[in-house]
Amino acid sequence: MNRLCNADDREIARFDKLSRMWWEAEGTMRMLHVINPLRTGFITQQIRTPCARILDVGCGGGILSEALARAGARVTGVDLSQPTLAAARRHAGAQGLQIDYRCSSAEHVANEAAGEFDAVTCMEMLEHVPRPAEVVAACARTLKPGGRAFFSTINRTPKAFLFAIVAGEYLLRLLPRGTHRYRKLIRPGELRDWARASGLQFTSVASLKYNPLRRTFKMEPGSEDVNYMACFLKKG
Ligand code: SAH
Repeated sequence: MNRLCNADDREIARFDKLSRMWWEAEGTMRMLHVINPLRTGFITQQIRTPCARILDVGCGGGILSEALARAGARVTGVDLSQPTLAAARRHAGAQGLQIDYRCSSAEHVANEAAGEFDAVTCMEMLEHVPRPAEVVAACARTLKPGGRAFFSTINRTPKAFLFAIVAGEYLLRLLPRGTHRYRKLIRPGELRDWARASGLQFTSVASLKYNPLRRTFKMEPGSEDVNYMACFLKKG
């Protein structure tokens, strides 16, 4: 664990190894591609994307960053996995998309560019860091007053354990084994407390429900079941 930059070296190494898989639609990252239109919709319903400056924290291969750039936003994507960033840059280049990818963390951007972003997205990332509350606080600092923060993660309940870990990683094999550890999952109340302590006001939440027969997800507004995403407003 890297105490200084609030990153878990084993997690980053695991993502380093997966770096070639980001854009294989039927590969390891398939689920992120499947849920991406839903989470992009959740975000673009709540902010005006054309010309908005958006910071995508833990951007991975850029699945969400690219969708936001296509919606007209000016996107900065940060991640600590160098091979992952190389894959993100390669893919965006091939698509003719201008995205500013940097090897950096939310905390670092918060120090260098506080108050510069209209929105920050931090999806499927908080459950992979040692101190997620600090990432939430750093995300809040990157925002302009009135800016919006979006976080998605997995609830820490027995049901989420069964669905996301037992079914998702072992039975249906939707995700690589070892992607999630139960104790690192985050209850919605915890996320809201961290956000409140960082000057963020809760505005909305939705969960993504999986249909194993159709292999599709649907968004359920107001729900915090298993996979959920929440939006917050920076006061001021
Ligand atoms: N947000 C992307 C990728 C999620 S996977 C998406 O939803 O499509 C989690 C990503 O977070 C990985 O790419 C990993 O390298 C990155 N990550 C983990 N810890 C990090 C940290 N402390 N700072 C920045 N990125 C981190």
